[in-house]
Amino acid sequence: ERVEEKIDYVFKVVVIGDSAVGKTQILSRFAKNEFCFDSKSTIGVEFQTKTVTINGKLIKAQIWDTAGQERYRAVTSAYYRGALGAMLVYDITKRQTFDHVARWVEELRSHADTSIVIMLIGNKGDLVDQRVVHTEYAVEFAEDQGLFFSETSAFTGENVNSAFFKLLEEINKVV
Ligand code: GDP
Ligand code: MG
Repeated sequence: ERVEEKIDYVFKVVVIGDSAVGKTQILSRFAKNEFCFDSKSTIGVEFQTKTVTINGKLIKAQIWDTAGQERYRAVTSAYYRGALGAMLVYDITKRQTFDHVARWVEELRSHADTSIVIMLIGNKGDLVDQRVVHTEYAVEFAEDQGLFFSETSAFTGENVNSAFFKLLEEINKVV
């Protein structure tokens, strides 16, 4: 329709990270402002779109969600093809999901464009009393690896929009 004609850019963004960290819920919070309590694990690759204005440009974010292929090396290179940004998500209450972040970075470095902008996301920030991954530790890791970083809650919505906007802004700087 009308808005479609004025789109300046389409940015492909992929969401990756271990199973059950909240990837699908973060995406649905951003794209539809929804959180679904009894979400089933995603079947089949899917994407959602949201059009936003950044620096006066109309940008359509096309955000891809994994299809329950979160096992190591199971995500195919087609998923990464053309991606300008990545949301790499872990769960602040599950140490192992953070320990696997380095593998996901490796995956991105080998399959995605070298210029891909990566945002590390510590999700489930609402579960404060179950936290095992400390913010300072993640901040340091992100700095070492050259990643942007945010902690979010798909449940409350905290920082979800700002994390996506930051990622899209950074992509907009390099396109
Ligand atoms: P995915 O496998 O990474 O796509 O994870 P899902 O989005 O399907 O979420 C896995 C589980 O974590 C579901 O039971 C969600 O309801 C729950 N979940 C996701 N995000 C949050 C969050 O921010 N806070 C809390 N408390 N639960 C969440
Ligand atoms: Mg999912």
